[in-house]
Amino acid sequence: MAHDLPDHVDVAIVGAGFAGLGAAISLLGDGRSDFVVLERDDDVGGTWHRNSYPGCQCDVPSNLYSFSFAPNPDWTQTFALQPEIGAYLRKVADDFGVRPHLRTGTAVEGAAWDERAQRWRIDTARGPLTARVLVAGVGALSEPAIPPIPGAERFAGPAFHTARWDHDVDLTGKRVAVIGTGASAVQVVPRIQPQAARLTVFQRTPPWIMPHPGRPTRPRERALFRALPPLQKLVRGAVYWGRECYVLPFRFHRLSRLPERIARRHLERQVADPVLRDKLTPRYEIGCKRILMSDEYLPALQQPNAELVTAAIAEIVPGGVRTADGAEHPADAIVWGTGFHTTDLPHVEWLRGRDGRTLGEVWREHGMQALRGTTVAGFPNLFTLYGPNTNLGHNSIVFMLESQLRFVTDALRAMDARGAAVLDTRPEAQARFNAAVQRRMRGTVWTQGGCASWYLDAHGRNTTLWPGTSWSFRRATRRFDPAEHLLEPPLPAVATPPAGVC
Ligand SMILES: Cc1cc2nc3c(=O)[nH]c(=O)nc-3n(C[C@H](O)[C@H](O)[C@H](O)COP(=O)(O)OP(=O)(O)OC[C@H]3O[C@@H](n4cnc5c(N)ncnc54)[C@H](O)[C@@H]3O)c2cc1C
Repeated sequence: MAHDLPDHVDVAIVGAGFAGLGAAISLLGDGRSDFVVLERDDDVGGTWHRNSYPGCQCDVPSNLYSFSFAPNPDWTQTFALQPEIGAYLRKVADDFGVRPHLRTGTAVEGAAWDERAQRWRIDTARGPLTARVLVAGVGALSEPAIPPIPGAERFAGPAFHTARWDHDVDLTGKRVAVIGTGASAVQVVPRIQPQAARLTVFQRTPPWIMPHPGRPTRPRERALFRALPPLQKLVRGAVYWGRECYVLPFRFHRLSRLPERIARRHLERQVADPVLRDKLTPRYEIGCKRILMSDEYLPALQQPNAELVTAAIAEIVPGGVRTADGAEHPADAIVWGTGFHTTDLPHVEWLRGRDGRTLGEVWREHGMQALRGTTVAGFPNLFTLYGPNTNLGHNSIVFMLESQLRFVTDALRAMDARGAAVLDTRPEAQARFNAAVQRRMRGTVWTQGGCASWYLDAHGRNTTLWPGTSWSFRRATRRFDPAEHLLEPPLPAVATPPAGVC
């Protein structure tokens, strides 16, 4: 996209994933066209542009994991693979007229609130601009995390994260080490095992794995959805409410026995060797970490060229991985399946609020928090999409994002109606909201399930997940409440000092 950056826009959106695209479309729908979408990558898609590893797939049915206003009757799988979701998002950007507003290759490097000008001053890799409103759609799973294992820099072969897959590296006939057994690793392992000469999977904690319910869609099904859009809507509704029930075992421990039994039986059916099965049996409550789905992962681990290593990794050596038991596991390539920065997101270091402190400085003091996941006290005219406590373990993030987008539209309308130049969050409203979120978090599987997970921050607080149904989040964001915010009028125009003064 070769357009220049404007000097000033009404709204600057950072990120062009589901969040940024959704924000752009809802602004257009509200009659607002003075905005840009600043994206560091070379195209839209976010998660679904960056995660191009073999086997990358959503784990919420595609009929639901898509925008409510842009249904796709043509999904070829009930749980679509990454290329299809990426294509869907590119089509959405085209169909809804987002492209003219898009500035790709434009990493935002800084954004500071200018109190006198009542606007954001934004620095990007392609120059500066200002904006009245800043919408951060930078993603909660967009910054790959690689653990600081000694010796990693000395590894002689290629090493890359699943979210930064190096397609120039051919893994055929290579000895591949996969480090980590989370959602991405479980998807990629069955894809690379048949190619690799040897596959060594390093596991710290086994995940709970359920049978995968996905299947290819039938041509008749697609034709029906095309001919009868209300039918697809109905199916989407049924899938949504079915998924909502999945939250119950997370909140009420007794209900977790059923999913745990299903996962245990799946493991027993797929792994006959009792020693391997023991290694693959989680020792924490199901749901404490993200529940995974796969019919192929466990069989792949049992192929003659595959090995599961559960000893802790001591160091990376030029020719492989050395574990704490002294064993050296030769490898020609390393794949990091080690997840993302989730509670220490990089953008918080470049966002500077009213008192000059960064969002990171504020959150390190108080913990990552926002009001209704979306606005932050001291950071005026800022909306954080997929913000604190808006993640889910059971349903579609797109639903959460659409809830936030309604809230943002409502907030912008309230500013217009009151002639406000500045919208800030009342600290006491934010504190009250977060105290309630943390109260609801008590006793859930995420805090009591006996595991360490990426849901928790350094203090063991769950600042990533919403502690209930996604419907309750929809209700919490259905209306912008002016009483929770400070709406400030424009400052009187500052007289320009005569030339020569100062
Ligand atoms: C492999 C994988 C599978 C997933 N599967 C599911 C699923 O099945 N169901 C589900 O609900 N959720 C899933 N998720 C979560 C997923 O991240 C969200 O559903 C959704 O895609 C988030 O959209 P987003 O726009 O908020 O963030 P992202 O998709 O991460 O997009 C953020 C965008 O911001 C850009 N950006 C970041 N920083 C800057 C900067 N400084 N300057 C400019 N641009 C910047 C990034 O380049 C990126 O394009 C999955 C995540 C991963 C990683």
